[in-house]
Amino acid sequence: MNYEHDVLVIGGGAAGLRAAIAVAESHPDLSVAILSKVYPMRSHTVSAEGGAAAVIKSNDSLEDHIYDTISGSDWLADQDAVEAFVREAPAELVQLEHWGCPWSREPDGTVAVRPFGGMKIERTWFAADKVGFHLLHTLFQTSLKLPSIKRYDEWFATQLLTDDARCQGIVALELRSGAVATVAAKAVILCTGGAGRVFPFTTNGAIKTGDGMALAYRAGVPLKDMEFVQYHPTGLPGTGILITEAARGEGGIMVNKDGYRYLQDYGMGPPDPWPRLRGMELGPRDRLSQAFVHEMRKGRTIKGPYGDVVHLDVRHLGEQKIDQKIPFVRELARRYAGIDPVHEPIPVRPVVHYMMGGVHTDMYGATPLPGLYAAGEVACVSINGANRLGSNSLTECLVFGARAGKSAAAFALEHKRVNRGALEARARDETERLTSEFFRKDSGSERVAALRNEMTSAMETGAGIYRDEGQLRQTCDQLAGLRARFARVRLDDRSRGFNTELTAALELDCMLDVASAIAYSALARTESRGSHQRTDHPKRDDTRFLKHTMAYRTDGEPRIDYLDVVITRWPAGERVYGR
Ligand SMILES: Cc1cc2nc3c(=O)[nH]c(=O)nc-3n(C[C@H](O)[C@H](O)[C@H](O)COP(=O)(O)OP(=O)(O)OC[C@H]3O[C@@H](n4cnc5c(N)ncnc54)[C@H](O)[C@@H]3O)c2cc1C
Repeated sequence: MNYEHDVLVIGGGAAGLRAAIAVAESHPDLSVAILSKVYPMRSHTVSAEGGAAAVIKSNDSLEDHIYDTISGSDWLADQDAVEAFVREAPAELVQLEHWGCPWSREPDGTVAVRPFGGMKIERTWFAADKVGFHLLHTLFQTSLKLPSIKRYDEWFATQLLTDDARCQGIVALELRSGAVATVAAKAVILCTGGAGRVFPFTTNGAIKTGDGMALAYRAGVPLKDMEFVQYHPTGLPGTGILITEAARGEGGIMVNKDGYRYLQDYGMGPPDPWPRLRGMELGPRDRLSQAFVHEMRKGRTIKGPYGDVVHLDVRHLGEQKIDQKIPFVRELARRYAGIDPVHEPIPVRPVVHYMMGGVHTDMYGATPLPGLYAAGEVACVSINGANRLGSNSLTECLVFGARAGKSAAAFALEHKRVNRGALEARARDETERLTSEFFRKDSGSERVAALRNEMTSAMETGAGIYRDEGQLRQTCDQLAGLRARFARVRLDDRSRGFNTELTAALELDCMLDVASAIAYSALARTESRGSHQRTDHPKRDDTRFLKHTMAYRTDGEPRIDYLDVVITRWPAGERVYGR
């Protein structure tokens, strides 16, 4: 089975749909396809809750959004990319409104915005606290109106095909039939999302296994800034389900076992009298998650059945406001923590949420491999640097999804042909690999689930909120051992259709590559910056590390290199909150 398109988008989340729409709108004559391992509306974007940032109010300015993003990134973001992002953000959110996104309103009918962590002014647009659901629906419905977009739903990309030093398509598994096919394309855009599942406790859906990062990495493209893993300070214990930052944006407070607003002890300003909240609970995610660890060490957290927690208290907001502004928080707390936040505080703890790092791209979504583009959480442009600000990600998917779509369309117009013969030979090799690695083996002794559990626990121990050389080295060694054992993995399910054991194995294969890039990048960065905190190197070191980490795959340890950060107008300074 062989298919061919001008532009192929892998992933049907916010970035993928936006990219496909950009291709179809700018060049209706090009054929564009979206290939996704789940039906697009099941992409992780659907679960986003809190909102999307863009300057819209007269008391706000582009300059402030740029500055908040750069200082929030601990100066590791590329400043030219941040400027482009902030300038294009408002038009993207207005465009979404015109496509039908029901943004919440102020009483006077203008678009409502709410405060979000690390943003020093209210600039987060929202649709109650079900933003991802509305945003993804809007994009999906818009994509349905464009006849040049074709979809491959429930197809799993297993390899990028390169020939003549450019990406010319992919090999993919049709999950329904188990058939392996080539999908040739003049340009390919990776929009496969993040990789939170390399950790045991995460807000991320089960499908976020870093597949696109691994595919690019295997094709020789570097993974950038992988050591920067975002913990969100308020996940529900046990499940890791997210309680959105909007709960704090609307006025929720965080207290320890003594009912004390402990964040005032961690340099995030004095406790503002409610309802005015600026610092404290609305500090950036890295600082809040780190503060939790300190409270736990001081014995000031609360013991629960799933470990230590603190309390997120929204009771003072009152039932009416909770139901109007954060109804999903109430629903999730009732269902998954068994408490009603109108009457009781919500138990929370930090949880892995987002990958700042990803496939290295420029501001136009282009990777170093000609014909290959990336956008959304899979990519590292980078506007997030060492710490992303909440609500910048959905907007990033739109701005850079659109940019990548336009760039890929231009590339496809310049490169008329794909080398079908070469691609088919590569696809035959990939079919053979899948068969011999997973189907024909009777002798393997390793189980996917066991290897996955060992990987996630190695990552939590060595590459969690605080890291040091000894534990990171141990994690790197464990990952190398797991990679060797993966070669002996054995599947019981030999069926072709919807073989979930096979997809779990393919995902684990990807996660082992991504985990190793994270751990080795973290080992090499002997400083502390944003979400990367080294207890053995507690200070930020701008002389040596105001640089992006670039991890290249080899047969052994990744090769680590560095790339200068683009600084335009904002020299690296202190990160100040709550003053
Ligand atoms: C619970 C939660 C709440 C969040 N809330 C917010 C928020 O309020 N504001 C904000 O800005 N950000 C938020 N984020 C972050 C933000 O939602 C994500 O970063 C963003 O939605 C990622 O979109 P994406 O298009 O890059 O990827 P995704 O939406 O994750 O989509 C990835 C797509 O790639 C496909 N795919 C992956 N691998 C393969 C493969 N091998 N073959 C084929 N297809 C593949 C999947 O099927 C899927 O369609 C939240 C994240 C979570 C987890």
